[in-house]
Amino acid sequence: MNDNFVRDLILADNASGRYGGRVHTRFPPEPNGYLHVGHAKSIMLNFGLAGEFEGICNLRFDDTNPTKEEAEYVESIVEDVSWLAGHADFPTFYASDYFQQLYDWAVDLIRKGKAYVCDLSGDQVRETRGTLTEPGKNSPYRDRSVEENLDLFARMKAGEFSDGSRTLRAKVDMASPNLNMRDPVMYRILRAEHHRTGDAWCIYPMYDWAHGQSDSIEGITHSICTLEFEDHRPLYDWFLDQLGVFHPQQIEFDRLNLTYTVMSKRKLLQLVQQGVVESWDDPRMPTISGMRRRGYSPQGLRNFARNLGVSKTNGITELEKLEYYIREDLNRTALRVMVVLRPLKLVLTNYPEGQVETVEAVNNPEDASAGTRSVPFSRELWIEQDDFRETPPKGYHRLYPGNEVRLRYGYIIKCHDAVKDPQTGEITEVHCTFDPETRSGQQTRKVKSTIHWVSAETAVPVEARLYDKLFTVENPNEAPEGRDFTAYLNPDSLETVQGKAEPSLANARPGDRYQFERLGYFCADKSTSAGRPVFNRTVGLRDTWAKLQSQLSG
Ligand code: ATP
Ligand code: MG
Repeated sequence: MNDNFVRDLILADNASGRYGGRVHTRFPPEPNGYLHVGHAKSIMLNFGLAGEFEGICNLRFDDTNPTKEEAEYVESIVEDVSWLAGHADFPTFYASDYFQQLYDWAVDLIRKGKAYVCDLSGDQVRETRGTLTEPGKNSPYRDRSVEENLDLFARMKAGEFSDGSRTLRAKVDMASPNLNMRDPVMYRILRAEHHRTGDAWCIYPMYDWAHGQSDSIEGITHSICTLEFEDHRPLYDWFLDQLGVFHPQQIEFDRLNLTYTVMSKRKLLQLVQQGVVESWDDPRMPTISGMRRRGYSPQGLRNFARNLGVSKTNGITELEKLEYYIREDLNRTALRVMVVLRPLKLVLTNYPEGQVETVEAVNNPEDASAGTRSVPFSRELWIEQDDFRETPPKGYHRLYPGNEVRLRYGYIIKCHDAVKDPQTGEITEVHCTFDPETRSGQQTRKVKSTIHWVSAETAVPVEARLYDKLFTVENPNEAPEGRDFTAYLNPDSLETVQGKAEPSLANARPGDRYQFERLGYFCADKSTSAGRPVFNRTVGLRDTWAKLQSQLSG
């Protein structure tokens, strides 16, 4: 990441020798959904800082809530972190591995008179918690003896009490101005199958109790999390101080928010469950797996995340900025090919029937080492419907009767007339002649437009899925009265077209990325099979973010 205050804090700790110069971070997702682009920021920050200071970054599953967590999510998270980091060479841990240690430490706190078993219900705990302006009320169970607490806690663990009937609470201060310090719940009784520990436990630690202690067990030096945990830091510190164990430093930074995007896993799950999108990896989802399937490169995402600021106030980043970094990377790396998405037949009436020649096309003008390829050219071609108009609007320089254009890598052609369907009036064929003296590379006259094309005889049929924004407004989180964010879903977020591609695309494999000349960047979908490629539109060619920036500064 660019210069930021988190790095400055680490530098200061290194200078003072606080952790002996050691830097050990962690990325701690809860496996209750797939990772999204917001997590990419956290991953880049945590892995980036560890890399920079020759430290270590752990992947730690914060798996303390068995009712919402699943093994499927664990697997997807490992895959996504490896893909984004570019390697799978990071230590992986689970908070559930520490359940016994956490239990023993809770017993410790009871012995020290710093935790007690409370018989209030969840509602009662909430009701007696007080407000920002009023202190809370002490629980009537707050002064239980250590012996009674030890006995009750052991019996909670042994399964003697019903779900929700008791909790273990930290004995901090019900009058604290910080609500997190008002005797927070450490354990709840919950009979639920855990994806790793099965039914070994019927009490589960709360996030605040599990998190800092897990950091301590792993020897984390800098526990970097998002701003909403700032108010939890006093509790984070309190637990570690009471236990007298290794004490990491919690540091908070701002969450990534993107325009036209919802990021909360709860909302993303809703989209999947309601069938608004196909799956967690639907290319319209802001998930890392969705972005991968859409064709975003890990390098492009890394560049984006690296260029985000790290600050102490939450803001909102333009989606166009993300697309800028994706486009920039694809421009450097993607092979250029010719594909027609809305085909219209074009016949070169003076080109010999049955003749095929090949033209030499450049694979990537940004990268000479990508070389060239031969593309077949013949009498019948496919062109975009858009590239022909019977009556051209003002400023239209592509094909219309009487006008000349250049075929990319080919000849200059002149349009003579169009064939229409007598019933519908729809244009079915465009008739042109080619000028044999104008083959690409030869010294010839200039024309105003160049259009792409695909030779009809050897064309490969392709399906292209054209994605647009999933939401119609910049901030779908602010829903209208009585509705939720789905009120703003874009009904046109996906259009599927059947196109024609040059022969080289018959060999496209899932995940291959291309620039379709003049159309945008596309990536072969996982459903691609031999000879039947399916492409997802990754991003268009036009750079709207750079334009936005120059408008702002100009
Ligand atoms: P969500 O609110 O999207 O459900 P979460 O915060 O509950 O996300 P976790 O699995 O707990 O998700 O997050 C793992 C790590 O990623 C945490 O350290 C969290 O602070 C960080 N993180 C989550 N969302 C973002 C975001 N939008 N920007 C930056 N970091 C994030
Ligand atoms: Mg969370």
